[in-house]
Amino acid sequence: GEPRVRVRDLRIWYGTSGAPVRAVDGVDLTIHAGQIVALVGESGCGKTTLGRGILGLLPPAAATDGEVVVDGTDLLRLPARRLRAMRGDKLGLVFQEPMTRLDPLMRVGDHFDELLRTHRPRLSRAERERQAVDILRAMGIPASRLRQYPHEFSGGMRQRIMIALTLVLRPALVVADEPTTALDVLVEAQILKILAELRSSVDCGMLLITHNLGIVLEAADRVAVMYAGRIVEEGDVRQVFAHPAHPYTRELLRSTISLTTTELHHIPGSPPDLADPPPGCRFHPRCPDAMRICPNSDPGDVDTAGGQRVACWLHRLDEVAPADREPLPD
Ligand code: SF4
Repeated sequence: GEPRVRVRDLRIWYGTSGAPVRAVDGVDLTIHAGQIVALVGESGCGKTTLGRGILGLLPPAAATDGEVVVDGTDLLRLPARRLRAMRGDKLGLVFQEPMTRLDPLMRVGDHFDELLRTHRPRLSRAERERQAVDILRAMGIPASRLRQYPHEFSGGMRQRIMIALTLVLRPALVVADEPTTALDVLVEAQILKILAELRSSVDCGMLLITHNLGIVLEAADRVAVMYAGRIVEEGDVRQVFAHPAHPYTRELLRSTISLTTTELHHIPGSPPDLADPPPGCRFHPRCPDAMRICPNSDPGDVDTAGGQRVACWLHRLDEVAPADREPLPD
């Protein structure tokens, strides 16, 4: 069927004087119902900006171009008021300030009731309660607990309730941006497990933004690898992990000593300045396979036999003149 989210040629940049910082520079991404797409890459590659852009949560200084179509509506062309309504209704964000939405003076059930009354005004009281009960049950929380207050739940349970509050509206897309503190990593893994279990019954698409490749392998269906504002490889998680098609993906996987570590280990060199990225393939200054053609020409996307979409000349060698296939001198 139609994807729930379709991003086309998305560009997001900052700064009008001097060279703009192109944090996202021509990204295509599709997320279907019941699918988890993981977005990975080093810090500063643009993945958080991309997640925020898809949610319509960019700061006013950011300029955008392209399309972010959610359930047939292009978010980039919505007036601010309708975008806010759509965000409350169809788009969910987990992990960011997760506790702020639970009011200690309100019973858990009243949180659901208030949310559904606002966003689903036509539902009867009984129907609102049924939907709350359904989603909590799916998470292993009995209906009787709707009468309790937030402090009567453990931290982990409160996290579940927060997620239930995101999912009860049956959003088109849930974005899970990585928690910022190391302590949250265990909670992150638990929550992603719950989301992975529930995603087909809720029928939403999920975008998972993380450093943790172990979590990606465990929870995601597809993975998109971002480098310098672009997606350099995208494909089925298992296929990409077993047969990375892009040299950057290969380095990223290799540099992660263990799949359970939370930080990516060092790839030689550093990510480029997004105000002045290298010409041609942006990875060429760090690429062990760089050829003469690489700094001169952008490879563009190509589909591999393994079903990946990859931006690398190695997969278009038949189009490269023999002299241009020579290794790039240092
Ligand atoms: Fe390396 Fe060239 Fe492929 Fe870029 S296009 S990743 S520099 S081989």
